[in-house]
Amino acid sequence: MRKLLLIKYASEIFLKGLNRNKFEKKLKLNIMEVLKGVQYEFLNDMGRWFIYSEDLEEATARVKRVFGVYEVCIVNEVEPTMEAISKVAVEEAREFGETTFKVEGNRANKAFPINSMELSREVGAIVLRNVEGLKVDVHKPKRVINVEIRERAYVYSKRIKAAGGLPYGMNGSTMLMLSGGIDSPVAGYMMARRGVELNCVYYHSHPYTSERAKEKVKDLARILKGYTGSIKLYVVPFTDVQMAIIDKCPENELTIIMRRFMMRIACALSEMLGVNSVTTGESIGQVASQTMEGLIVSSDVADRPVFRPLIATDKTDIMDVSREIGTYETSILPYEDCCTIFVPKHPKTKPRLEVIRHSESVLDIERLVKDAIDNMEVYEDL
Ligand code: ATP
Ligand code: MG
Repeated sequence: MRKLLLIKYASEIFLKGLNRNKFEKKLKLNIMEVLKGVQYEFLNDMGRWFIYSEDLEEATARVKRVFGVYEVCIVNEVEPTMEAISKVAVEEAREFGETTFKVEGNRANKAFPINSMELSREVGAIVLRNVEGLKVDVHKPKRVINVEIRERAYVYSKRIKAAGGLPYGMNGSTMLMLSGGIDSPVAGYMMARRGVELNCVYYHSHPYTSERAKEKVKDLARILKGYTGSIKLYVVPFTDVQMAIIDKCPENELTIIMRRFMMRIACALSEMLGVNSVTTGESIGQVASQTMEGLIVSSDVADRPVFRPLIATDKTDIMDVSREIGTYETSILPYEDCCTIFVPKHPKTKPRLEVIRHSESVLDIERLVKDAIDNMEVYEDL
């Protein structure tokens, strides 16, 4: 007998035909990628995926973060005989304590002499006879012992929730506007979890924002990389843009015009790199610039879809996700952001598009965008 990791992925109903092949291929590659540096063996038994590793704990910790995997189980691989199966089922059940349980048999290998129902019943009866304090409850059991018969037999009761979503890199790409705040890393995580490839852009206002603020964003990108395998971060100098706006535009329109430049640069960068869309961490009503009108005015300059996965999410819930994915502690470090250094005293909360367009018209928009991109720094190996 040996312990293996069973990998369960998204519900098969959604995965038909060609799509399924593509999905499996990508998922397998991504799993192999995160397991780099760990000794392991990838096993396939009649369509089920297993990992054997001398360091199963580490392999489990890594595989459960892979998008597209919804559950991992620590399974006992045994000879496909009733004797071997029952013995391990009893051992598993001994760890339950006083509770209700059922056995769920699954005979995929029809060469096995008894069917799934009989298998469940017989193993259940043996467990009941050999372990004290257990009651069978077939409808709402607290614990389930799974017995799967394939080429080999697998017995397990330990299941661990995994990342879910879809394999990373399967669903196009996005340019995530990554600030040092709590929201944008969460927004990026959500897109990546649905299989969208992440590229990150950070607007840096040297010398008004410090090196440490930039390091913080690099740290956040690095944490996201833990989920995606690789990530690129573009650090775009933003001071000249801000100075030009401060110099030539009405003070109360500063924030909204600045946001339009962020959007323009993200789009231009996407165009240059072949990225399909833009993603931000905005949430409706959260701050003065995230009003419906504000969002409309900033989207106005976008030439591709702008995704705001947090748009209808409360801050407290965003914070919960950020703790879960491990970005929170970094996000709350108190370094300044370019949005917080030049804040108008009375920012416009209901900007009018024509008014803003008119105010901007005094700027050499193309030049400012081009210069910013020409002078960016690229980090590929964070
Ligand atoms: P966050 O917590 O993500 O910083 P926020 O609540 O502070 O968001 P804003 O500062 O208004 O809100 O920013 C809204 C969105 O604009 C951010 O979620 C992010 O996507 C983008 N953004 C803001 N500042 C920057 C920056 N310096 N570089 C890149 N993107 C930024
Ligand atoms: Mg912010």
